[in-house]
Amino acid sequence: MRVTDDRYRGEQAKFNLAIRMIEHEARTGTIRYLTGLHDDRIRKLYTTYFKFGEVPVRRRRGRSPTRVGPLVRTPLRALESGVFTNLLLANGLFSVDHPPGPNLKGSIDLGHRFCECFESFDLLVPQSSLSFEWGWNLLMSVRRGDELGITRCESCSSCYLFDLLSLPRSACPACSSLEELLAIPFEIVSAAG
Ligand SMILES: [Zn+2]
Repeated sequence: MRVTDDRYRGEQAKFNLAIRMIEHEARTGTIRYLTGLHDDRIRKLYTTYFKFGEVPVRRRRGRSPTRVGPLVRTPLRALESGVFTNLLLANGLFSVDHPPGPNLKGSIDLGHRFCECFESFDLLVPQSSLSFEWGWNLLMSVRRGDELGITRCESCSSCYLFDLLSLPRSACPACSSLEELLAIPFEIVSAAG
């Protein structure tokens, strides 16, 4: 009996994570990676709970984004990516001291933690340009460590991402944004505020 109960609880935990991820418009491949559910079960969950629901949820097909350039292309994007990276680090989804960090494949707990990071990010940076899948791409890139680097600004201490393959290395996005803001005449800033 206990084996059956444990199995049931295990399946239920996978479903709960899959539903949470579908709500964030995660792609099937990402849901499969974290929950271990087969594609047809993920499709069924989507059809049962979301397809005809009051709040439409789009089902994303195809592969997740893999390019990293757009994540750090402008100071604003780099700032947003930096905020998300700090949340991922604080939640133990990757490790600087022991890279890449814990094994994510099939981890329901870490899958929920990733969702929590995305939900917290959504509250911190409303209307950001970072979707769930771009956030997942960011995490995968940081864990690979071959294209995106993490550094701390000596001047303002914020932690930010930079493109390892682009030279010269981009400046701290927080400092650059502040410099840009200070370059705008004061009257315009006050009028906008
Ligand atoms: Zn700085």
